Amino acid sequence: VTHAEAEFRSQPVEIITIGDELLLGFTIDTNGAYLGRKLAQIGFVVARRTSVGDDTAAIETAVREALLRTGAVITTGGLGPTTDDMSKSAVARVFGRELEIDQEHVRWMQERWRTRFGKEMPASNMAQAALPRGAKKLANNHGSAPGVFIEDKRGWVAMLPGVPREMRGMTDDTLVPLLESHVPQHGTIRSYTLRTVGVAESLLGDMLKDIELPAGMSLAYLPAPEGVDLRLTIRGSNASVADASLAQVGTAVRDTVGDAVYGEDDDDLAAIVLQLCRNGKHTIAVAESCTGGLLGARLTAIPGSSDVVLGGFIAYHNDVKREALGVSERDLRESGAVSEPVVRQMAAGAIERLGSTCALAITGVAGPTGGTPDKPVGTVWIASSVNCDMHSRRLSLIGDRDEIRRRSAQAALEMLRRRLM
Ligand code: AMP
Ligand code: MG
Repeated sequence: VTHAEAEFRSQPVEIITIGDELLLGFTIDTNGAYLGRKLAQIGFVVARRTSVGDDTAAIETAVREALLRTGAVITTGGLGPTTDDMSKSAVARVFGRELEIDQEHVRWMQERWRTRFGKEMPASNMAQAALPRGAKKLANNHGSAPGVFIEDKRGWVAMLPGVPREMRGMTDDTLVPLLESHVPQHGTIRSYTLRTVGVAESLLGDMLKDIELPAGMSLAYLPAPEGVDLRLTIRGSNASVADASLAQVGTAVRDTVGDAVYGEDDDDLAAIVLQLCRNGKHTIAVAESCTGGLLGARLTAIPGSSDVVLGGFIAYHNDVKREALGVSERDLRESGAVSEPVVRQMAAGAIERLGSTCALAITGVAGPTGGTPDKPVGTVWIASSVNCDMHSRRLSLIGDRDEIRRRSAQAALEMLRRRLM
C-alpha cells in the first residue's frame, strides 16, 4: 500500500434510524448494522449513528444536525402509511419544502392493490406517495413505500424504509448504485476475517503482537461465545491493491495462529465440519442432553447437510438416555448424567442406532441451577467417535445458560473438525 493510499480519506456519512421501538429496546438496530457494512464496501465511513423516536421534532433536529456535520445522511424508518410515520414531513421541514403527492406512484400503488390483493387501495396508503418537492423517488422493489433522495447546498439525505427486508433491497438495488455515481471521490474499505475457536482472546493477542500491519490497516479482536474473530480492515482508493494487501497480512496471521483458524469471513464451523465429512465419506449422528438439539440445528442449518447428517437424539431425561441410547443404568446412577462413561455411551448409542461413521455427544450442566461442588455449572462432557475410535473431553465453560449451550455445541464441532483434519 502506497503512502497516498494510506492517506486516502473516505467520505463520512451519518445514519439516523427512526422508531420508538429502537429506543425502547424492543427492536435491535439491524438496519444500522447492514448499512454500516454496505457503505464501507463503497468507501463511506459511518461517522455517527443516531436513533430517534417517532417524533417529528426529534427527527427534524437529528437530520438537520447530521446534515450540517457531514452533508451525507441516511435515515431508515417512518415511511409507512400510518400516523406514527412522520419522517418525510420532518425532512421536508429541514429542507423548507412542501410535501407533494406523486401521482405516478399513486397509480402504481392502486394498480398493485388491485392485482395483488384484489382490493381498492386504502386511503391511508396515499401518504406513501407524498414526497418533499424536488426530491427524487428511490424505487422500492420489495414493498409499497418509495425511498427519498433530497439535497441542497448543505448535502444530501437518503430516506429508506424501516422494514429490514425492504431496507436491504433498496440499499442494494438503488442506494448503492446512486451513491457510487453521485459522490465523485469514494474509495473502498475492505475487510478480511479469520475465524478462530478454542484460543482465548488474550492468548491470540500475545501470538500476534509482532505482526506488522501496513499503514491504513487495522486488526480487530472480536470475541463471541463461539470463538474469536480476527478482522483485518484496510482503507484505500483501489480495491485490488487493498485486497492484495489483506491477503498478504491474512496469510501471516493464519500462519501464526495455526490450527485454531477454522475459516474465513462468514464461514460456519458446522459447514467446515460437514465438508470434512464429505471429503472423508463420513456420516454423522448426534446425541445431545444439555444442548437440547442445538448441535443438530447447527449442522442442519447448513444447506445440503442431508448427505452427511443422518439424525440425532435429544436425550434430556435419564430415562431417554437409557432407553433411546442404551446408556447403562448403573453408570447413570454411579457417575451421574454429566460424566465420561455416560457421554461415551451416548455417542456409541447414536452410532449403533443410526449406523453413522461419526458421532458427537454432549452432556453438561448449563445452569443456572443444578451445579454441585464437583460438577459446577459449566461442567460439560463431550465425546466424538470417528470410525469407532472414541475420544472424550471434560470442559469447564463460563457464561450464562445460553452461552454454555452455544460453547458446548461449538466445542463438539471443533473436536470433530480436529479429528477429521
Ligand atoms: P417503519 O418503517 O418505521 O414503520 O418500521 C417498520 C418495522 O421495521 C418496525 O416495526 C420494526 O420492526 C422494523 N424496523 C424499523 N427500524 C428498524 C431498524 N433500524 N432495525 C431493525 N428493524 C427495524
Ligand atoms: Mg416506525
